[in-house]
Amino acid sequence: MMPANNLVVRGKQVVLPKSIAPASLHISNGVITAIESYDSVPTGCDLIESGEESLVMPGLVDTHVHINEPGRTEWEGFLSATRAAAAGGVTTLVDMPLNSIPPTTTVAGFREKLAAARGQCYVDVGFWAGLVPGNAAELAALNEAGVVGFKCFLIHSGVDEFPNVTENDLREALPELTRLGALLIVHAEVPGPINRTGILASPSLEATGPGSDRIIRPMVYQTFLASRPRAAEDEAVALMIKLSREFGTQVHIVHHSSGDALPLLREAKAAGVKITAETCPHYLTFAAEEIPDRATEFKCCPPIRERENREQLWSALGSGVIDMIVSDHSPCPTEMKLRDSGDFLRAWGGISSLQLRLPAVWTEASRRGYTVEDLARWLCSAPAKLVGVEGRKGRIAVDYDADLVIWNPEKQFIVDGAALQHRHPLTPYQDRILNGVVENTFLRGENIYDRGEFIAEPRGQLLKKTQNGPI
Ligand SMILES: [Zn+2]
Repeated sequence: MMPANNLVVRGKQVVLPKSIAPASLHISNGVITAIESYDSVPTGCDLIESGEESLVMPGLVDTHVHINEPGRTEWEGFLSATRAAAAGGVTTLVDMPLNSIPPTTTVAGFREKLAAARGQCYVDVGFWAGLVPGNAAELAALNEAGVVGFKCFLIHSGVDEFPNVTENDLREALPELTRLGALLIVHAEVPGPINRTGILASPSLEATGPGSDRIIRPMVYQTFLASRPRAAEDEAVALMIKLSREFGTQVHIVHHSSGDALPLLREAKAAGVKITAETCPHYLTFAAEEIPDRATEFKCCPPIRERENREQLWSALGSGVIDMIVSDHSPCPTEMKLRDSGDFLRAWGGISSLQLRLPAVWTEASRRGYTVEDLARWLCSAPAKLVGVEGRKGRIAVDYDADLVIWNPEKQFIVDGAALQHRHPLTPYQDRILNGVVENTFLRGENIYDRGEFIAEPRGQLLKKTQNGPI
């Protein structure tokens, strides 16, 4: 079946840009052509009803997803990742430039990415490129080729083929990014405060730390948390504010975790610095105090911090200091999580939650009095705006793509990692009860996920940013 013509999706609770109201969405050729009263259904249309309890919301946009194809497809590939996205109500995702081989740091690498993705995507997919030392000459061509922006690390990325940049590298690259009008997204931890802890220099399990006055216990979560202090993020955020101000570059802080840096971000935004920030479901759900020894499925960088820090992140979302919540879906083969030794210092850092973002965030947000409108902003419209597709995606409006998720906010389920579409089942959400069940996902008017069933063929588009429009 081609994208449905003359479809109506209607519900008693449709999440529109300014209200939640009964409405019928008239859809033709994959686009919303009219938003009418609930009873307005032309004859001869296919009709899909969301029912009394379920919401019709814009399809989610997830701008932080690591799909490791080509090169490390056994970690996660386009097929498995985009199935997980569809099952989680995500209709647009943006792939990160690292962990695949080659990384997306050259035009040739981008071409390999596109070739690997083509025909394998159940949802629409855009692409970040990387800013690494020595690829300044590629930036203009990558931008022209259609990447949505550039990612850099200020600290070792975890993979050697994607080296981090220093302040000097950034001083060379930022004028070019500003000239191109390109967005820079930043893994904001700097090495200084991390190195000063001495913990990561420890050679072996239970080794004696520097000064031999303490024992480092790598299977204790607190050891890992202490090895990635808030100061590493705070200094990195301060550096990026300074550079954005100096060069006029649009900067976005990815997976922000430190509550201590929030005043800096608040002041910078108030002063007109072109900076935005995201955080992730795991920083908003879990607390360091509750992470058991050896539970390396909770390891990610920057780390999940204390309960009190988590509540600061929630407040920052409420006040707009943090703009959005994205998954940072960062998978690896289960063995790399070193669950047997429980060594937090050596285990791969990364949490897979592409499919769980909606219920994970809703469960915690609703507990704190946040609304479905807040959710739609954090999960849909703000990330769409970040990557320049806000004219087509991220909201339910006339002339927008008919990307929709129908989900029941009242229904609960128990997470079973093995039942998720992610390639690897290990998850810190295992056995957790979450509120919010995704029932249907529509991509450009096509019902691509229907209560556990997928359409036969993946028909997602590869989104390319162009000079004169969103995609
Ligand atoms: Zn990431």
